[in-house]
Amino acid sequence: MRKLQGAFKSLAYSILNTIYPLKCPVCKRPSNSLLYSPICRNCWSGIKRYEGASCRICSEPFTSDAGDICGRCLMERPPFAGVITYGLYSDTLKEAINLLKFSSVKRLAKPLGMLIAKLDIPQVDMIVPVPLSIKRLRQRGFNQTLLIGRVVSKTLDIPLSSELLYKKKETLPQAVLSASDRARNLKNAFATRSRLKGETVLLVDDVMTTGATARECSKTLLKAGAGKVFVATVARAVML
Ligand SMILES: [Zn+2]
Ligand SMILES: [Zn+2]
Repeated sequence: MRKLQGAFKSLAYSILNTIYPLKCPVCKRPSNSLLYSPICRNCWSGIKRYEGASCRICSEPFTSDAGDICGRCLMERPPFAGVITYGLYSDTLKEAINLLKFSSVKRLAKPLGMLIAKLDIPQVDMIVPVPLSIKRLRQRGFNQTLLIGRVVSKTLDIPLSSELLYKKKETLPQAVLSASDRARNLKNAFATRSRLKGETVLLVDDVMTTGATARECSKTLLKAGAGKVFVATVARAVML
């Protein structure tokens, strides 16, 4: 039986290999992993948790060790209680997130979600993924943060609330905007379908850059009655 399973596995692997040209996009060598493919096991194991200095509130990585709160948080205290993040948005982690998001390699949601699940997640009542607008959802066909949120929810046994928060306004892609335009772009872009009663929420996102999305979503959730919002992201990007 085990032999048969093994044969089936290798058959499945070779079929998969034909469908997806399994060349690791990071090191360009043949990929050898079912779980992370097309990224190879070697490159995946190179994804490291960021352990350098970062803002105590929003976890923005610091270039120097000075201070413990970043300028943005000093200027305006964020509505969220804290940000938990795995690594820097670079190298293999960036590649994996982009493959999921822009090339629909949906199976990567599992290992990416597991990165968040491994972190020290505070006690929360529910997981809320950052929503996409209807238009963007139709274009992409799926919401990557929902896929990631589902993995975190299952692994940590925390209820997932995927319908609570939605994006009511069509906005420009954040990536093309400056830091100040990002906040303006998202103003009043989100809404909730129901009220909360003081619950603690874990907002899940793939990448956090200026934190404009996390701030706006948290504000909306608090307005709807959430007691506290924590944010968990797979990666943290630095805006230069
Ligand atoms: Zn590789
Ligand atoms: Zn900060």
